[in-house]
Order: sequence, then C-alpha cells, then structure tokens
Amino acid sequence: MLNIVIFGAPGSGKGTQSELIIKEFGLDHISTGDVLRAEIKNGTELGKTAAGYIEKGQLVPDELIIDMLAGVLDSKEASKGVIFDGFPRTIPQAKALKAMLNERGTDVTVMLNLQVDDEELVNRLLERGKVSGRSDDNLETIQSRLEVYHNQTAPLAEYYIQEGKHEAIKGVGTIEEIFNRIKKVVASK
Ligand code: ADP
Repeated sequence: MLNIVIFGAPGSGKGTQSELIIKEFGLDHISTGDVLRAEIKNGTELGKTAAGYIEKGQLVPDELIIDMLAGVLDSKEASKGVIFDGFPRTIPQAKALKAMLNERGTDVTVMLNLQVDDEELVNRLLERGKVSGRSDDNLETIQSRLEVYHNQTAPLAEYYIQEGKHEAIKGVGTIEEIFNRIKKVVASK
C-alpha cells in the first residue's frame, strides 16, 4: 500500500495537492478537517465538541481525533493506499497512526512536508476566507492556528525524520510546479 502523510502549516496547500495525488496514484483521501466539518454540519456530539476548538484555532483533543480516524480508516479497507491530510498533528496522533496501520499490516510510506513561510500563509488564508465560508479563515483564528502549528505540529517533522520517512517539498510556486516536485518523490518510493 502507498500511504502518504501530507504535512504542512494551514494554507500550505495540503488539500489542493492531495486532490492531484489522488488522481495520479488512485488513493483514498482522509482529511480530518473535512470529516470534522461534516460532523459539525450534521450536528453530531463530536461536531458540537469540535466546533469550539476549531473556532478558536486550537486542536481538537487527540482521543477524539484518533477514535474518529480509526472509524474512517475501517471504511477504506480495500484501498490501494490512503493520503492522510491534516493528520497526524501531534506526536500521540503519529504514534496512534503507526499502530493502526501496523495492525492492518501496513505503515506510512512517506511524509511530504510542504514548506511555505508564514507571511505567504496568512495571505493565502485571508484570500481563501473570502470564498471558503470557513469560520476559522479570519485573521485572529489564522494567527492562533499558525501558533498552534509551530508549537504542537511542526515538531512532528523530527519524528518522521527519525522514522526515515520525511521529505521536504518547497510549497511555493505554481500548483503544477509543486505537484511535479511531489510526483518525483512519490514515484521513487
Ligand atoms: P488547516 O490545516 O488549513 O488549518 P484543516 O481543515 O486541516 O485546516 O483543519 C481545521 C481545524 O480542524 C484545525 O484548526 C483543528 O482545529 C481541527 N483539526 C483538524 N485535524 C485535526 C487533528 N488531526 N487534530 C486536532 N485537530 C484537528
């Protein structure tokens, strides 16, 4: 199986590049942000709890996310592989992902770390906020999301370096240029 973790700050292009990777390599897509937004829309208990965190730009607690992910993963049993978008975001999540995949006889193949500087990220997220309708794409929440990213999520790069799975991808340029960088790395796996 080809299991890809697509990693990077909010606004780094994870969702956009995921769509292209899926088309090229025939993978399933699991975006924890999309799953959470669907839970909120459907008014579930999980959605109600998650909404409070998301609006403040904080992370939803690990136990909730890990349980949610296990459920989604079970629905993708027969796939060629999965692209994980927005997960893991903490070390406990990364360890839980490894355990879940190992139980299913597989593992993370590669972690793609999309690198974009903060100034560009803020500009992209503010632009997206004009059309996305996402309650977290406003300046105040964007700033907390970036802070949470630097403090809690960015350290995960070190975890994947130690696992020998980390690949840095320059996340600036046209969508196609970035995708070409990704394709080269993925094709070599
Ligand atoms: P972005 O990466 O652009 O911020 P996402 O759609 O991936 O957007 O996530 C939106 C919000 O959903 C996050 O700010 C966070 O509150 C919550 N979230 C998504 N994935 C996770 C996760 N793996 N762990 C904790 N919270 C998460």
